Amino acid sequence: MHAPDHLLAARLPRWLLPDPWPLHGGQPALADLHLANGRVLGMAPHDSAFTPPAGSAWNLAGALVLPGLVDAHTHLDKAFTLARMGAVKPGLLGAIAAMMVDRQGWTEADVRERASRALQWAYAAGTVHLRTHCDWWEPEAQPLAWNVLRELAQEWAGRLTLERVALVPLHLYAERRSALRLARIVAASGPGALLGGFVHTTNWNPQALRHLFEAAQLHGLNVDLHVDEELHPGAQGLATTAALLQELRFDGHVVCGHSCALAAQDEATALATLDAVAQSPITLVTLPITNLLLQDAVTGRTPRQRGLTLVKEAHARGIPVLIASDNVQDPFCPVGSFDPLEALATGVLAAQLDAPFDRWSQALCRADWLSRGPQALPLAPGSSADLIVFHQADGWGFPSRTQPRLVLRQGRVASGQANAGWFTPASSIPPLARSLA
Ligand SMILES: [Zn+2]
Repeated sequence: MHAPDHLLAARLPRWLLPDPWPLHGGQPALADLHLANGRVLGMAPHDSAFTPPAGSAWNLAGALVLPGLVDAHTHLDKAFTLARMGAVKPGLLGAIAAMMVDRQGWTEADVRERASRALQWAYAAGTVHLRTHCDWWEPEAQPLAWNVLRELAQEWAGRLTLERVALVPLHLYAERRSALRLARIVAASGPGALLGGFVHTTNWNPQALRHLFEAAQLHGLNVDLHVDEELHPGAQGLATTAALLQELRFDGHVVCGHSCALAAQDEATALATLDAVAQSPITLVTLPITNLLLQDAVTGRTPRQRGLTLVKEAHARGIPVLIASDNVQDPFCPVGSFDPLEALATGVLAAQLDAPFDRWSQALCRADWLSRGPQALPLAPGSSADLIVFHQADGWGFPSRTQPRLVLRQGRVASGQANAGWFTPASSIPPLARSLA
C-alpha cells in the first residue's frame, strides 16, 4: 500500500521530542517527520516553506501522531473465554476459580483461535509489541497454551513482537530444584520467554520468591510478576522484590505488574518501597481496567477504593510506568478490545492523570522499558516507521476520539484510511493515495 515520504505538521507528544524544541502557544510546535524505506530519517520543527524535493508528503495539519503501541501485560491464553462461562463470583479469587474450571476443556485449536483473534485486534489497534502471560500450573511440563503462544510469536514476527511470560504460582518455586527446572524449561523455549509468578498474601513465601530470582539469574531470564494484586496493607511482594534484586545483584530486567497494595499502605511505607524500586531495574505496569473491576469487589456493595498503584509517585521518582490492557473478555474482565488506548482512557480518570497525550502516552509506547539496557526513544533516526495518526482527536481531549486511526507500519498504510486533505500540492501521489480504501 501507499507510503508517504514526509509527514508534515504532525503533533507529537512532548516526551518524544528532543530538547530544545520550540513551543507554540504553550504547546510543542508541530513536527515534520521524514521517512525512507520504511524507516525514520529524522524529525524537525514544522517548516511551512518545506517543499519535498521528491516523493509524497502528507500535511497532517496538526493531527496527533504516536509511535507504534506497546501492550505490556495481557493474557492471550484466557482471552474471549467469558462467553462460554456461567455466572462468575466477583473479585480476583472468584475469577481464578472460574478459570480453573474452563481451562480443563482447553485444546491447542481453542487457544490458537482465541489468541489469534486477540493478536488481530491488537495489530489493527497499532500495537507493535505485546507481552502475554500464560498460566502455568504444572511443575514438570509446559502447558499446551505455552506451545501455541510460542508458535504464534514466530508466525507474527515481523508484524508484532510477542513476548511470553510463564505465570507460575509462587508455591511452585518453594523448592530450589523445582525453581531451577522451571527456569530451564522456560529458557529452552526460545527467545521472548520470561519467568513470571503470581505473588499475593494468600501464597506469600519469600524463600520461593528468592528461588525464582536465583533461577532466572542462572538461566539469563528476565522476570515479570503479578505482584501484590490486592488491597492488603501487609503485602510485601514489591518491597521484597526490590530488596532481593539488590542483594542478588540481579542483572536482568524485572516488571512488577499491579502492585495495588501500595495504595492501601500507609504513605511512609509505600513511598519507602518506591524509593527502593527507583534504585532497581524495575518497571511498573498498571492495569487500571482490571484493578477498578477486581479490587474492593464485594457482591452487592459499591466499591470504595480504586485499587491502582501509586503511578504519580512512581513517575515522580523516575520509575518507568507502563499502562496495559490485562484481561479481555474473560472472567477477570468482561470488556476490552486489545486497544491500549482504552486502558489509558480508564487510567486518566481513575488515576487523575494530567497531560495524557504529552506525558502519559509514553506509558503505551516505551518498549525499551521492558528490557534492561539503553533506553532509546521510539522514532529515533533509523528506527522502523511504525506510526499511528489520530485524525479525529486533539491534544486537549485525548484519548477521546482516538478510535478512528490510521496505522502505518514500516511507513506503509496497514489499516485505516488516509485523509484526502493531507495530500499536499507538491505530492506526486495524491490520485493514487486518494483511491486507498
Ligand atoms: Zn494479569
